[in-house]
Amino acid sequence: MKYCSIASGSNGNCYYLAKGEDAILIDIGINTKHVEIRMARLGIDPASIKAIFITHEHTDHIRGLSVFSKRYQIPVYITPGSYEGSRLHMPEHLIHLIPPNAQVHIGKLKVMGIPKFHDAKEPCSFVVTDGKVNVSIMTDLGRGCDNVKHVIQHSDVLLLESNFDEQLLENGRYSYFLKNRIRSGWGHISNTTALELFLENRKPRLKHLILGHLSGENNTVELVNELFRPHCDEIVFSIATRYEETEMFEIDEHKQIKVVSVAKHVQTTLVYSETIIYTSSM
Ligand SMILES: [Zn+2]
Ligand SMILES: [Zn+2]
Repeated sequence: MKYCSIASGSNGNCYYLAKGEDAILIDIGINTKHVEIRMARLGIDPASIKAIFITHEHTDHIRGLSVFSKRYQIPVYITPGSYEGSRLHMPEHLIHLIPPNAQVHIGKLKVMGIPKFHDAKEPCSFVVTDGKVNVSIMTDLGRGCDNVKHVIQHSDVLLLESNFDEQLLENGRYSYFLKNRIRSGWGHISNTTALELFLENRKPRLKHLILGHLSGENNTVELVNELFRPHCDEIVFSIATRYEETEMFEIDEHKQIKVVSVAKHVQTTLVYSETIIYTSSM
């Protein structure tokens, strides 16, 4: 399976996953023009996307949805609550309403909805599998509930929210109300909660940890890197940011991970990475 973050952060999220010709997006929270620019750098043809899955209606997850899905006529899978909350009026033929625990097959991919605690109407996360490898996109987690723990335990590749540094949030300029919203159990998880969840639930099958959905106001890439990197010697470790797309990664059925293209300004650059760090016989 191939996967990358096109954008990740409290201002916009978009993740790409593919197996052969079957490609999907999870969320599209940056505008279509920027999605197209980043896809071009990664060598992704927007017309190759077969479905868009939406986790919830907050703007940082749907900003580019309407224009992109209409432009390329891509079906959208979304819960009734998220669709209602989005206030979007999409062409009926593009909207597929699904329960938050849905299992949807898109070609060789199975996409599984994972209900979560978050201050939205009917939110869920998604785990995507080709039957061998599980890639999990876990952001906007109010708390480390049993669903989150279960997913971490069964992930080969995990993109996990690491939203805020507790100190920066406490001392920052957000209102008391907003600070409490974030840490209420219905908002986001902190760096230390994400680390605890990771350390307590990681299994040997986990080969790649990507931290994402960093707050622009209350977190930094350096803090997340300092906190997590010492625990990631034996796995591939990345931080997905708002500023640019990640590399395109591929995990094969032997759970070997490589970088198949690097998002630089030459589309044709194919770099077979030296980051083949960990191989499993599982
Ligand atoms: Zn949200
Ligand atoms: Zn969000």
